[in-house]
Amino acid sequence: MRPRSSRTEKRGRPAGGAAPRLAPFARVQAEVDPLDYISTTPGRIPVVITAPHGGNKLIPGVAVRENRGQMFFETIRDLRTAELAERLAAHLATLLGGPPYLVIARFDRQQIDANRPSADAYTAPGNDGPKVIYDAYHAELAASTAEIERIWGAGVLLDIHGQALLPGRFIRGTRNGETVKSLVARRGVAALNGPKSLFGALAELGYPITPSSDAGNRKELHFTGGHNVDTHGSGEGGHVDAIQIEIGSRFRTVERLDRTARDLAAATAVFAKDYLPQKPK
Ligand SMILES: [Zn+2]
Repeated sequence: MRPRSSRTEKRGRPAGGAAPRLAPFARVQAEVDPLDYISTTPGRIPVVITAPHGGNKLIPGVAVRENRGQMFFETIRDLRTAELAERLAAHLATLLGGPPYLVIARFDRQQIDANRPSADAYTAPGNDGPKVIYDAYHAELAASTAEIERIWGAGVLLDIHGQALLPGRFIRGTRNGETVKSLVARRGVAALNGPKSLFGALAELGYPITPSSDAGNRKELHFTGGHNVDTHGSGEGGHVDAIQIEIGSRFRTVERLDRTARDLAAATAVFAKDYLPQKPK
């Protein structure tokens, strides 16, 4: 699904709607309210925070996703990323004078992986329930980025994930600049990897980042950017850029979580002050 065409959809409404099907089982699924499975908060700054993999709420009667050999199949949740996104948003509101748009998946990745194309995101039968929720999640992101573009002219979406491959690192995913095409065109590549870039600011705070900011070692190799940043970034037009942030497990322990959220907010604020619109257009 390419929600770009659905950017004018009403906030929180599924892009495609849900026509009742014949089977009673499917009808039951179609009655789910997507807002029971997605938390949304409107923003007042040109930043969207989303966490697609932090939820654990199961949809009754819906099949668990099956591995049919698709690439990057995963059903494990990105631990504490929903909480991290909430705390990040709260700290950002303090630092930047208003809350970011916040879109948090509460559904479980066992049933819906929002960061995959729709064909790989959920398993039939019982498609209606997951489809309605999946479409609503992406419609919410599309509506948020559209509103930012309309009000401020440009902005950024931060897609929050967790990884344990490199537990002591933050990993950036922009499809090697593709999902931040507008930002780089407007402000140069320093906006992606310079000292006032989001990851540059994280490095200044002492966080190991991948790719590193050293010249010659700047290619994204791991977690290079998934469906969310590909769909809602500026790769195919528009001026809202998208950055996938894969946070190492060492920074997501119960004890460490708030410091991580605070530091990520501080780094985002450094980036925002240099590279995001400071007032509505
Ligand atoms: Zn993830």
